[in-house]
Amino acid sequence: MSDCLFCKIAQKEIPSKIVYEDAQIMAFADINPVAPVHILLIPKKHLLSVNDIMEEDEALIGRIFAAIKELARKLEIAESGYRVVTNTGTDGGQVVGHLHFHLIGGRALRAGLG
Ligand code: IMP
Repeated sequence: MSDCLFCKIAQKEIPSKIVYEDAQIMAFADINPVAPVHILLIPKKHLLSVNDIMEEDEALIGRIFAAIKELARKLEIAESGYRVVTNTGTDGGQVVGHLHFHLIGGRALRAGLG
């Protein structure tokens, strides 16, 4: 999508600190981190939110979670623990309209969800 911020990041029209990339997905540092590790994982294909995920995207979403697991290991937060968050829609607090998964860790996060 031409006016989508994360599509522009995926196409490298806007720079980002890329920590993982393959043909289908990209992981990059969040510009406003809430923890020592705060990575965003996106499909390069434009999907607005979880609501847009179709059966044909199952492998793509699986690939994102495989990358989350591998990044957590590489960034040495796999053992201590981390959080994966996907905000969806207005009430879900989604600001950027391109499906993304926050990988957050590197400090003790509060238990529960607010
Ligand atoms: P959301 O609230 O789940 O939509 O989160 C959007 C996230 O994108 C926020 O954590 C922002 O800090 C992050 N963000 C916004 N613009 C950029 C950018 O240009 N590069 C990296 N992260 C960004």
